[in-house]
Amino acid sequence: MKPLPLPADYHTHTYLCRHASGTPLDYAHAAAARGIAEIACTEHIPFPNDPTPSIRMPDTDFATYLALVREAQQAAPCRVLLGIEADYQLDLVQGHIQAVLAQADFDIVLGSLHTGPFWNLAPDDPAATPAFIEQMNRTYYRRMTELARTRLYDVCAHFDVVKRAGIHAPEPLLKEIVPPALDAVAEADMAIEINTSGSDHGAAEAYPSQLILGMMKERDIPITFGSDAHDPSQIGRYFEEAIALARAAGYTHRAEFRQRRKTLVPF
Ligand SMILES: [Zn+2]
Ligand SMILES: [Zn+2]
Repeated sequence: MKPLPLPADYHTHTYLCRHASGTPLDYAHAAAARGIAEIACTEHIPFPNDPTPSIRMPDTDFATYLALVREAQQAAPCRVLLGIEADYQLDLVQGHIQAVLAQADFDIVLGSLHTGPFWNLAPDDPAATPAFIEQMNRTYYRRMTELARTRLYDVCAHFDVVKRAGIHAPEPLLKEIVPPALDAVAEADMAIEINTSGSDHGAAEAYPSQLILGMMKERDIPITFGSDAHDPSQIGRYFEEAIALARAAGYTHRAEFRQRRKTLVPF
């Protein structure tokens, strides 16, 4: 039997966020060269009065982003979806995030958490005591539950990025605090991506872990694949390994998105 082509890459960035390079068309060309038939552009959502403007695309570039994605959709050698990675932030949900999502006909909206002590922690940080790690993880998964309950998002991005620095919470703790977040994701009818960027971080493995993938399968939470590429050369990184992880957890299908509606397709 002919092997299936690589799955769609539903997590990519562009130069507009100020910490990545390439245009949507550059990513589309890289995807076609890698044998990937579909990508989603999912640039970081702009925030008002952004305290960290090097993390997200500025408000003033939003129209440019839409134009660049449209241009790629016309000219690219693969299918290009219009997406966005919208950070969850409680005080911005009602007003700002909803307003941005209403401004364009998105195919896919990623929900993610980027703020918290986990982001810049060093693995040997003396602050990272067992109590600190437990608190950090409890807070993180509580916020992930809140994110799912907003019903604003289609896919959880890098679901367990709290392990980014390579500080992994003990398994008994994860078995206590992750299931409520997964239940909220399942109730919200969201998917969770297998984000392969974790293999290039201190975490040294994909987001989420095999343990969490197993818990997702028990709840029939659909998956997508995402490289979180911040350079066109990263398109589809470690996708062969991610497919093996998904298969080991029992997955045979992934979610495909069109205008925020999902269907399941084999991978
Ligand atoms: Zn980024
Ligand atoms: Zn992210």
